[in-house]
Amino acid sequence: MSKYFSKRHTGLAPYVPGEQPRGGFIKLNTNEAPYPPAPAVLDTLNPGAASCLNLYPDPDGTALRAKLAAYHGVDSCNIVLGNGSDETLAFIFLAFFDGSHGVAFPDVTYGLYPVLASLFNIPYTRIPVGDTLDVNVEDYIGIDRNIVLANPNAQTGIALHIGEIERIAGTNPNRVVVIDEAYADFSGFSAIPLTGTYENLVVVRTYSKSRFMAGARLSYAIGDSSLIADIETVRRSYNPYNINSVTLAAGEAAIDCGDYYTEHWRRITNTRDRTALAMRALGFTLTDSSANFLFARNRDIPGAEIFGRLREGGILVRRFDSPERISDWLRITVGTEGQMEALIRALESIVKRGGAYAKK
Ligand code: PMP
Repeated sequence: MSKYFSKRHTGLAPYVPGEQPRGGFIKLNTNEAPYPPAPAVLDTLNPGAASCLNLYPDPDGTALRAKLAAYHGVDSCNIVLGNGSDETLAFIFLAFFDGSHGVAFPDVTYGLYPVLASLFNIPYTRIPVGDTLDVNVEDYIGIDRNIVLANPNAQTGIALHIGEIERIAGTNPNRVVVIDEAYADFSGFSAIPLTGTYENLVVVRTYSKSRFMAGARLSYAIGDSSLIADIETVRRSYNPYNINSVTLAAGEAAIDCGDYYTEHWRRITNTRDRTALAMRALGFTLTDSSANFLFARNRDIPGAEIFGRLREGGILVRRFDSPERISDWLRITVGTEGQMEALIRALESIVKRGGAYAKK
């Protein structure tokens, strides 16, 4: 740390993203899609589009917001765009949370939430999930705190029902409830329809997972027009041209390719369910994931050992040291059928050998 680094950030522990090696691995560690974006999305990435890069993009993302509004049955004034949901979440934290109004989220969830709170000096509470790693809805009823919930939850893939989200939003009317729906397209339900009723509810969506565009960095939030106007004030104060023109066009095309995506979502969830069955047969315990990843643990072999042996065999998955009680769990992105068959073969051989590393 240099002597110039603001004292404000003393002790800030930045988010550590999953490894991003280029090639050489079956990459099941950061919940990307194993398939490319829809062909019409690729068509937008042409020299003609690139030749416009001399000009600034539309700072309002007007055409894309109109398309998203029609798709979700809301108005453009209910949508604000972000450069990935990491940025959208940052705008939301800046807009609504502060020293007097902190934020609560589960202890097992997306690791960026505590980092953003620390960066912006926002007090936060981690509410422990239950023994089965489920979010206990009662812990969030009438707590008069700002709340952030990933639904389905990050790491576990477990989803709350819409009625439960509605209770949480309805019983905390003076605070903002953020539902991070990074994985919602795989679960088949969304809290977006509730945003017309609950003015304190904001839903965050991303193109990274279910639109197969993690590299494009595109996200949006949907909520009541006055909440969105507040987020927009922060966005305009921070980075008014936050979405580049090539990504804006690609984002529009993706919304027009519904069939491609629904077909591939089905493929991914079918592969997920088949892989879960095969892993259970090998003695793994899994959460009931509604997302494009599995969360699994083996009773007999430590998570770090399975992680290391998979990595040696060219398969990258994700493991978290914190909180400690999930350190034996592995989060495994659902890849292609072939990739998951390779995973199962590797796990079979690891399980057959047992906890060999530990015994060496
Ligand atoms: N929210 C959750 C729950 C996530 O798991 C992730 C991906 N790591 C994000 C947000 C960030 O997604 P994006 O690529 O849109 O920034």
